[in-house]
Amino acid sequence: MDDREWMYTGHRSKVDFTKEWMCKTDEFLESAFGEAGGRPIKALCPCSKCANRKRQNKVNVGKHLVNNGFTPNYTRWVHHGEGHRMREEVVRPRLEGFDADAGVADMLDDFHEAQYVEGRRLEEMDATTKAFYDMMESAQKPLHDRTTVSQLDAIGRVMGFKSQFSLGREAYDGMLALIGSLLLEGHILPKSMYESQKVLRALKMPYDQIDACPKGCVLFRKDHKDAKYCPKCESSRYLEVDSGDGQKRQLSIPLKVLRYLPFLPRMQRLYMTEESAKQMRWHKEDKRYNLDKMVHPSDGKAWTHFDRIHNDKAEEARNVRVALATDGFNPYGQMSAPYTCWPIFVIPLNLPPGVLLQRQNTFLSLIIPGHSGNNMGVYMEPLIDELILAWEDGV
Ligand SMILES: [Zn+2]
Ligand SMILES: [Zn+2]
Repeated sequence: MDDREWMYTGHRSKVDFTKEWMCKTDEFLESAFGEAGGRPIKALCPCSKCANRKRQNKVNVGKHLVNNGFTPNYTRWVHHGEGHRMREEVVRPRLEGFDADAGVADMLDDFHEAQYVEGRRLEEMDATTKAFYDMMESAQKPLHDRTTVSQLDAIGRVMGFKSQFSLGREAYDGMLALIGSLLLEGHILPKSMYESQKVLRALKMPYDQIDACPKGCVLFRKDHKDAKYCPKCESSRYLEVDSGDGQKRQLSIPLKVLRYLPFLPRMQRLYMTEESAKQMRWHKEDKRYNLDKMVHPSDGKAWTHFDRIHNDKAEEARNVRVALATDGFNPYGQMSAPYTCWPIFVIPLNLPPGVLLQRQNTFLSLIIPGHSGNNMGVYMEPLIDELILAWEDGV
């Protein structure tokens, strides 16, 4: 990072600032607003009054900066396009040293790539996106002045440790207090689970939770929505405790929870931008460059067979064909951790070979807790319902 001391030393008042300050502030404005080219017309104003809370056009930001100076401690221009680069400066050096442990940083990169296509404007951000950017800020904040470990990475590692040794909340809070007392003054390690979760909240994707029989016979939805015991094996849906008189009492804590993210809305989003809408018709309408090689599922026999038997559906190039994929996964990347889960992904196959398997086109649909055994079909019900809806009624 350039030395940004000039931002504050060069500006004493609206009539007293250095030439250097003026030139560099001009450069800042250029880089923040650019030459149109897809950049926003308005950007957050970093003057000491607006403090990156209000949007202004370029001329006004310039005026505000001359009148008010920069808001304190804004030497990393995270609100003005430096997000990604700064993050690498803070986090990458650490990763080089700890290659095997890319954990949170890698996941964030994935998440970022999956969510944000370059050039998408800030104005289009929804609440999830905003929460994500808040978290990105945490990924850019070093834990204290003398480290390259970010706040977010630190939280991720302590959380991973907690999971590995199945520590309770109390132990977690105690550990944070202990580590905190050993760190340099002014560190920003959270003091409790509650504070950690506040930082991580953006990672929570909006999903539905569906309780499942602990043995995996049924999902408690539709007909079984209100059932307290599995209609097949009579296992309790909720955690049970002894009430003292030999009777068992159900608490309100479900024993097994399936997490489900509807994929249809995300599929529809592929038709919201012209470029991806065009790509979704590729399999039918665009040129093949390798006629003698199989480069795409649509070159295969299964695809053409489908076209023959479902002629009406095959006619329309925009109809989406999907593949489902799954594999066991250990969320903390620690082989000894007792917890595994099975995510199920939906992949639209309409896209051209180059982008077909890119991360942003692979949609997480279900997270099955533990190993599904023979009951994969049960857990996949919500996803299948969506597919049937799309097949029969269309969306
Ligand atoms: Zn301002
Ligand atoms: Zn059961």
